[in-house]
Amino acid sequence: MSVVGIDFGNLQSVIAVARNRGIDVVCNEVSNRFTPSLVSFGPKQRYLGETAKTQEISNFKNTISSLKRIIGRTYADKEIQEIEKQYLTAPLVDINGQLGVKVNYQGQETTFTTLQVFAMYLTKMKEIAAAETKMPVSDCVIAIPAWFTDVQRRAVLDAADVAGLNVLRLINDSTATALGYGITKTDLPEDKARNVCFVDVGHSTYTVSIVSFIKGQLTVKSRAFDRHFGGRDFDRMLAMIRLMAGCEKLKKVLSANAQAPLNIESIMEDRDVASMMKRAEFEELAQNLISRVEAPLQKALDEAGLTVEEIDAVEIVGGSTRIPSLKERIQAFFKKDLSSTLNQDEAVARGAALQCAMLSPTFKVRDFTVQDITNYPIKMTWEKTPEEDETELVVFNKNNSIPSTKILTFYRSQPFDLEAQYAEPENIPAGINPWIARFTVKGVEPINGEPACVKVKARVNIHGVLTVESAYVVEEVTKEELVEETMATDAAPAAEGAEGAEAAPEASLTRKVKKLVRKGDLSVVSATSTLDRAVATELREKEMEMIASDKLVVDTEMAKNALEEYIYDTRSKVDGVYRDFVNPADKEKFVQDLNDAENWLYDEGDETTKSVYAAKLGELHVVGKPVVERYREVEARANASRELRESI
Ligand code: ATP
Ligand code: MG
Repeated sequence: MSVVGIDFGNLQSVIAVARNRGIDVVCNEVSNRFTPSLVSFGPKQRYLGETAKTQEISNFKNTISSLKRIIGRTYADKEIQEIEKQYLTAPLVDINGQLGVKVNYQGQETTFTTLQVFAMYLTKMKEIAAAETKMPVSDCVIAIPAWFTDVQRRAVLDAADVAGLNVLRLINDSTATALGYGITKTDLPEDKARNVCFVDVGHSTYTVSIVSFIKGQLTVKSRAFDRHFGGRDFDRMLAMIRLMAGCEKLKKVLSANAQAPLNIESIMEDRDVASMMKRAEFEELAQNLISRVEAPLQKALDEAGLTVEEIDAVEIVGGSTRIPSLKERIQAFFKKDLSSTLNQDEAVARGAALQCAMLSPTFKVRDFTVQDITNYPIKMTWEKTPEEDETELVVFNKNNSIPSTKILTFYRSQPFDLEAQYAEPENIPAGINPWIARFTVKGVEPINGEPACVKVKARVNIHGVLTVESAYVVEEVTKEELVEETMATDAAPAAEGAEGAEAAPEASLTRKVKKLVRKGDLSVVSATSTLDRAVATELREKEMEMIASDKLVVDTEMAKNALEEYIYDTRSKVDGVYRDFVNPADKEKFVQDLNDAENWLYDEGDETTKSVYAAKLGELHVVGKPVVERYREVEARANASRELRESI
């Protein structure tokens, strides 16, 4: 079983696998180390990754890009309507509140949710990894932007499920980078931490993360983003400037004329204008964009409580950190040289593969602790009760470590609901509903006429997803307990929520202690954005059907090619090397059969089924095979006697 890490990039994705000798980046079917993050639909099949790239322009209406910007979003989402729509070429639709795309697939107008489209892409990732490692792929770690919310994370997990992948961890991409850094650095300090700032500017997003390292451990201190800052903004700026200049001229000419041409330098093919731009000019134009690089750097520093001087190294990754003026800005901010000890295009995927190896039972990796943090505070709310005034509590603060469990205490006489939501909706990606989940704690009853003490275990798990794993009732019982004399007056305070002892100090060898005893477990029903099992299973089946259908298209094409090749190859040899092995009486008919088959291929046989092509080839083999066999036999004999002669 392969151990796989996937960096799911907005423009392109990178796959790495863990092997005994280390981490390798996997090449795709055309030997590229990254694969375009694109899914396209055609009259017969889907095109995934590299093949979708060739459809991007010719079949733009049925080609989906920006996969990571659209998964887990809704159609009405402001960011989708106002920003992402500009980058998408396929029509967007609403599918029961979910964002979907409308495409023409196999000759029919079809809609898919963005979750399904993403699952299709993961199918391709899985296939690429399996083809290269020649092993089945299931366990993987997928790197996602740290700013993904609960609903986005759950959508990625669901998509992976639909693609038949078992996600050991959704890792924040900047944390994957930090892991790759930490595990390969042999000189990490034992005590005084080394603070490293990781700066990743990709195609659509920009992340700054400050991480402190000691030997065997990384701790994410803070993280800041510009969620809408990356290479695509620079591309757009350049394209827009040219377009706008052309449009302005057009507008003016139209004031005096009934019609006018729109000429855009070096975009319109018929204009013979070679355009030049100096780097300085580009930098001038991009000034506004480039100046946006500072705010997240400052924010990350502030949140980490560190000064520029306390940052020991600044590591840059992501394709867009190749822009010199961007680098200069970052460098000027930190007043120190930037390091690029990591492969800037592959760092995330490598870190993800490492994490996968660490979590996989099939691998033994040096221990390295990864202490990541949450991005947004999460609060729980509940209905007011006579006993309590409070109706909400921030359970996980921003920058709370993940994974992390908190135990909440409630006094209740009946089942109750907890609603979880992001406490600062203004900080999550605009347009995403801050609601996370509803947890219903069932089976709660009064105990001796009093409300029961209910403990609820809330957890932000390894994927950064909120769950309530369990709830249970505790009862206070008084017990006599033997006490060591020296400890007689020591009353250990009970940790919040722990089933510890609250001791009443007594000056005797026994004392009465009140103990919280876990009584019965309560069932918790979670309503989250995760797909219902039945729906997920249905989508998985649909995906498998599409995989089978794509495979059939490929197999059919291969069967057709095999037939075609056989016709040409055999016909050219019948008068050549096979000449002496064909019965002259059969020869004429055989050549005729080959010609007929060729004509058929260009006519009704141009598009038929795999089995028909195979049957046709079978028919030709009836005459052809014995010929080839006779030829090979004689060849083999000739070879043998030649070898014999040479060895004498
Ligand atoms: P994201 O991290 O936003 O999801 P991604 O991981 O797909 O996106 P990267 O592969 O890190 O993005 O970077 C791709 C971007 O880097 C593209 O916009 C590309 O044009 C840009 N880029 C790559 N090389 C250079 C270069 N030499 N100069 C400027 N920009 C470059
Ligand atoms: Mg990236």
